[in-house]
Amino acid sequence: TEMKRLEEFRCQFPLLESQVYGKPLVYFDNAATTQKPAKVIEASSHFYETQNANVHRASHVISAKATTAFEQSRTAVAQFINARSTKEVIWTSGTTNAINLVAQSWGKANLTKHDKVLVSVAEHHANIVPWQMIAKETGAEIVAINLTSSGVIDLKHLKRELSANVKLISVNHISNVTGKLNPVEAIINLAKEVGAKVLIDGAQAIAHHRIDVQKLDCDFYVFSGHKMFGPTGLGVLYGKQAILEAMPVYQTGGEMIKSVSFVKGTCFNELPFKFEPGTPNIASVVAFNDAIALIEAHRDLIAKQDDELTRYTYQSLCQIKAVKPLFDGLPDIPLFSFSVDNQHNQDVAAYLDSKGIAIRAGHHCAMPLMEYLAIDGCLRVSLAPYNTKQEVDFLVSTLQGLLSNEQSIEVIESAHQEGQ
Ligand code: PMP
Repeated sequence: TEMKRLEEFRCQFPLLESQVYGKPLVYFDNAATTQKPAKVIEASSHFYETQNANVHRASHVISAKATTAFEQSRTAVAQFINARSTKEVIWTSGTTNAINLVAQSWGKANLTKHDKVLVSVAEHHANIVPWQMIAKETGAEIVAINLTSSGVIDLKHLKRELSANVKLISVNHISNVTGKLNPVEAIINLAKEVGAKVLIDGAQAIAHHRIDVQKLDCDFYVFSGHKMFGPTGLGVLYGKQAILEAMPVYQTGGEMIKSVSFVKGTCFNELPFKFEPGTPNIASVVAFNDAIALIEAHRDLIAKQDDELTRYTYQSLCQIKAVKPLFDGLPDIPLFSFSVDNQHNQDVAAYLDSKGIAIRAGHHCAMPLMEYLAIDGCLRVSLAPYNTKQEVDFLVSTLQGLLSNEQSIEVIESAHQEGQ
């Protein structure tokens, strides 16, 4: 029955049935974006077919319906991450947009040339460049914390950098390159000792681990819908209400105002609308509810399958001598970064692609981490619970095929040279 539940789970994702170059698709690029279940795809069309209207302008019935569905999704997200109130859930276009919002609003209002922002060397560019921009404007300093050999944020280094000048620690929950869970609870406690705020980039954690923002007690938690079976172009900024209340508005326009007057000036709307200018991504917000429902309905299955696939893939890849993982030990989600001896990353990815296996090669939007590790890039295989052990076996045998071909080519070439 476990097998059956897994099959049923997988069956909900139509794109997984596709073929590429006439071969079955093996989709191992889930850290970039996950596939979408039929329910999410249908919810989006259903919205356009039956409820399409703008929200919060309820002078007619369809608009009222759209607004209800839109706000139901917000309630679902608040419950999903255990926020105290829907006022703490701001719709953004993604993780990137959420971090830019915090940098431009909170950062501009709170950082000075005496202050420091701590990040880690393993941040996605989305959690580096917005801080670099605001540092340029405010004179604040950005300090990058190193990793341990197993690829998690080094708490010893973090403690050494901690001082009353640290105003913010902005780090990933799980990196999109290491696949390792960072000690965010410890980081949040350390931040409290010096009165610093903490932003957690949950883009990679949200689909795999249950997130409880009250238990974590972080100030901000950000993530994207598209990495958790939801639509693209949609993300969430969670922030503690008191902090969001005190933050100045970021972008301005319709929806985020209470009143606008050339005579009396402009009065901004209350949370969460204060940070949601313009017409939002309504169809995606509505469809996102089905992605959340899918995760909630399959919590146990997802946890178990993540665990199984993590162990199985790790053991299988480590059987290949030429495969060199970037970090020691098992990752905390089924995400593996490695290089292959004597092979260019792009060549390996292209070969796998020709066999129907989708993986990613390159710097993974984490160039400072590549710099830190003194590498150009790496290969990344990232799985979702709909992936199977058979797909992992196929990856391994395909990689072995590539390597033995290369060897035989080398053998033939060297025999040829010797013969000459
Ligand atoms: N942070 C991390 C850890 C990520 O993996 C990603 C997506 N690769 C992002 C931030 C950016 O997310 P988005 O592109 O959805 O804004």
